[in-house]
Amino acid sequence: MSYFRYIDNGEGPTKLFIGGVHGDEGKHVLPLIKLLSREDFSKGQIYIYNFDKTPYVSTIHKEFYQSEQGKKILNLIDYYKPDFYTELHSYNIRHFKKLTSMDRLDSQGIPPLIDCGQYVLCSSVSPLIRRKHFTKADICQTLEFPTFRGDDLKLSDDELYEKYEFNYDASVEEYMSFLRLITLSKNRDDFEKRVLKDYKKQADLALKYVKIIYGLDFPRY
Ligand SMILES: [Zn+2]
Repeated sequence: MSYFRYIDNGEGPTKLFIGGVHGDEGKHVLPLIKLLSREDFSKGQIYIYNFDKTPYVSTIHKEFYQSEQGKKILNLIDYYKPDFYTELHSYNIRHFKKLTSMDRLDSQGIPPLIDCGQYVLCSSVSPLIRRKHFTKADICQTLEFPTFRGDDLKLSDDELYEKYEFNYDASVEEYMSFLRLITLSKNRDDFEKRVLKDYKKQADLALKYVKIIYGLDFPRY
């Protein structure tokens, strides 16, 4: 069953979190969402959705936003008009190199995802919705958690460490630490400060990528 949680933390920014955006990603990110407690959030109105399995269509293709699931998400965005919008995704660890490579710009016309450490990736949201459904002042972020498919599912924790240097707990810690930057931030300035303190390298890359797709006069988040 899909998951929904509303936290009324009084007056403050509206924050919308969406897990299970497409495919079966919801089952991988729900345990992470459940690690968040009320104290992890700033003041404001917090809405968290995590969806059950839906057909997998990439959010960089317009077909996604024409699908039932895509329309549902757009409706939530347009309804809540969040100051902070965060998509909680998961990805196949085998695609790490492809997703973080500059080749993505040539092959798909979108910038690579940014490596935050421990296979956790971050980026803005799909260019198909960033400008049309949000203002420049809004903070839009995507977070990706590593998962396994195919033969990798048969490997033990030790074997996964040997093959990928993957450590589940370390990835969870990294994912949660980035997620808490978003949940705790009081506003855009506060978020920028927190990111520059802990993720300066990633912020520099985000700026480089945003200039490529949106030009100079656009915020990196
Ligand atoms: Zn995804």
